[in-house]
Amino acid sequence: MDKSIQIQVLRSSRKTIAMRITGPNAVEIRAPRTMSQAQIDGFIQQHQAWLDKHMGIVNQREQEIAQLPPLTEMEIRALAEQALAKIPARVRYFAGLLHVTYGRITIRNQKSKWGSCSSQGNLNFNCLLMLCPPEVLDYVVVHELCHRREMNHSPRFWAEVERIDPDYKAHRQWLKDEGGKLIARMK
Ligand SMILES: [Zn+2]
Repeated sequence: MDKSIQIQVLRSSRKTIAMRITGPNAVEIRAPRTMSQAQIDGFIQQHQAWLDKHMGIVNQREQEIAQLPPLTEMEIRALAEQALAKIPARVRYFAGLLHVTYGRITIRNQKSKWGSCSSQGNLNFNCLLMLCPPEVLDYVVVHELCHRREMNHSPRFWAEVERIDPDYKAHRQWLKDEGGKLIARMK
């Protein structure tokens, strides 16, 4: 194994051992308290091929992200204008389907969130949504508007999201897989 990989071992009362990649060159092992270091090393060796393959994917993605050109101020402004022209109509449409009200709509250029909804019903959306597929934008709009019914991420909340966007899991996954690359361009 590449010597630069950092392995963090967390022991607990669990009965089985599991491994997951937590970032570039970082692995977390969850192991039973009773398992010896030799057993853990053996487990890692057994899964060497899996680890190399998936670590390769994670590291390559990280490299790609680092190489992307940052958005210029002008590009960000253009995205914000597009968002202002497009998002309010999507909000109006889905608010009608959900029978919910809402307050102000603000477009932000932020590195952290795709959208948010305050308890007063004011909505924020990230201008980078203009670089996402339209169905992903719609998912974020539906997600925030569903917070007008449920201010949490409970099963009831997700059921409501699914009612309007049956493919929401794929859209949420798109943001997880591809969103980081977009956010990395906001420098
Ligand atoms: Zn939410």
